[in-house]
Amino acid sequence: MEAFYTLQGEGQHSGRAAYFIRLGGCDVGCHWCDVKESWNADLHPSFSIDSIVEGALQYPGRLAVITGGEPLMYNLDALTAALKHAGFKTNIETSGVYPFTGYWDWVCFSPKKFKNPHPDIYKNANELKSIIYNKSDFEFAESHAGLVSPDCTLLMQPEWSKHTQMLPLIIDYIKDNPKWKMSLQTHKYMNIP
Ligand code: SF4
Repeated sequence: MEAFYTLQGEGQHSGRAAYFIRLGGCDVGCHWCDVKESWNADLHPSFSIDSIVEGALQYPGRLAVITGGEPLMYNLDALTAALKHAGFKTNIETSGVYPFTGYWDWVCFSPKKFKNPHPDIYKNANELKSIIYNKSDFEFAESHAGLVSPDCTLLMQPEWSKHTQMLPLIIDYIKDNPKWKMSLQTHKYMNIP
């Protein structure tokens, strides 16, 4: 769908320069999705893997973040192998609903209530990023925290349209449950993509 060089705004790698590769296509259907234009893959052009890597190499950063849409709709072995061959660290942001593919340095798993994750994702997740939109999302987050590996980083992140309302609840929750950490969409505060 698009590719751009910016700072990673959220999660464990927040603040790092990164080349974002956003793949078109998603059938998860989150009602609060902020990239609904990604859902229909047919509306977006196709690019060769070589041209994607070439685009990434135009910038000095060597972190590539594959996002979507839902990037695991596609087998990502070839794209990630090519990025690694070119010297990139590879990170993914996924809802985990499709079988796991690709060669990754960091896997951000962000489960959604609207479609169940594929079981592959739990052993592969380095970071569980739970979006908090309403109070029932705390329980949903805990249900996934019980399934990821013990060294998986546990993050709670307020959904942007509700962040003013949910932030105080998340702060209190993390103070009571310190295995969790806060993740904020800092790129939105910085007004960058
Ligand atoms: S999984 Fe991501 S891209 Fe898909 S609908 Fe949900 S927020 Fe949007």
